[in-house]
Amino acid sequence: MPRSITDKVNLRDLNRQEMKEFFLSLGEKPFRADQVCRWVFAQGVTSFAEMTNLPKVLRDKLAEAAKLSQPTILTSQVSAKGDTRKYLFGLSDGNAVECVLMKHSYGNSVCVSTQVGCRMGCFFCASTINGLVRNLTPGEIYDQVMGIQRDTGERVSHIVIMGSGEPLDNYENVMKFLEIVNAEYALNIGYRHITLSTCGLVPKMLELAEKKLPITLAVSLHAPNDELRDQLVPMNRKYNIKQLLAACSEYIKITGRRITFEYALLADVNDSDRHARQLAERLKGLMCHVNLIPANPVEEKGFLRTPPERVESFRNYLEKANLNVTVRRELGTDIDAACGQLRRRFEK
Ligand code: SAH
Repeated sequence: MPRSITDKVNLRDLNRQEMKEFFLSLGEKPFRADQVCRWVFAQGVTSFAEMTNLPKVLRDKLAEAAKLSQPTILTSQVSAKGDTRKYLFGLSDGNAVECVLMKHSYGNSVCVSTQVGCRMGCFFCASTINGLVRNLTPGEIYDQVMGIQRDTGERVSHIVIMGSGEPLDNYENVMKFLEIVNAEYALNIGYRHITLSTCGLVPKMLELAEKKLPITLAVSLHAPNDELRDQLVPMNRKYNIKQLLAACSEYIKITGRRITFEYALLADVNDSDRHARQLAERLKGLMCHVNLIPANPVEEKGFLRTPPERVESFRNYLEKANLNVTVRRELGTDIDAACGQLRRRFEK
């Protein structure tokens, strides 16, 4: 009986070990798994017919037992300066996710989504407005990077896991994606070129620390006290700032890597000198870096971004307190680059 498309395993969801097991289950030699890994991950082929070093019978057998997810670009927008391109990828079940390419002097960086929607409920974020639809599989996360590499014909050198979704709420799939994207048989992107951003799922942060991957962990802090953070980042009601910063210290101790704190500046909400002082006090002594992000306005939410003079004043305050600070370069606000905005517009 032919298998239905839904029973078929998506080869882009398998790491090398699982690929070997899959080929053994088909009664094939393990070296075939290595050949196929290269086609699936390094070449990013979208059909079995392209696997030209496999015998035709094996290609037919694979087409019967397996499938390859397709990075389908539904739409894309380029920023006025041309340094940012935002993509909307269609998934096989009709859902869509966003992904952003940013061209930097040091290489091409891709910001991937890890979930369709999100259940974290952060106040200023468009991805969370209709809640979580589902987790992405490792292959669906991988397809975003590969799809952009194929679309541009240029190598992707850096990855930021900062698109829609909370990566630590889809932990196993994101860990497998990291393993694959870093692997020599795939894109060979160094862990030092990968940043993972979380709103603060403390137990998962500690689990991640134990893996000792030299990735950069970014933590979405956005407020210097619990009263405010409870409102902006609801995960704070579960793990408060004290618990979060304790986990960050532990993370730094275990991995030896500094943490980046993200702080979206919302006009008259979290951007006063008083907030800067509280923030500096809380982060004192932590091996960290603060990334200030003038918030991207989201129509439905009705907040304003902090004006540039206030951003400067906030930054100066932190610098005087000896914190390492950057203000995120303005990339792509003209193309709905704030999380979840392009998908929402497309669905309207
Ligand atoms: N769930 C993860 C990763 C996705 S969001 C996290 O919370 O870190 C990536 C970053 O963009 C987070 O720091 C998030 O708080 C921020 N963000 C979301 N909406 C934003 C907006 N409208 N303006 C500025 N930053 C925003």
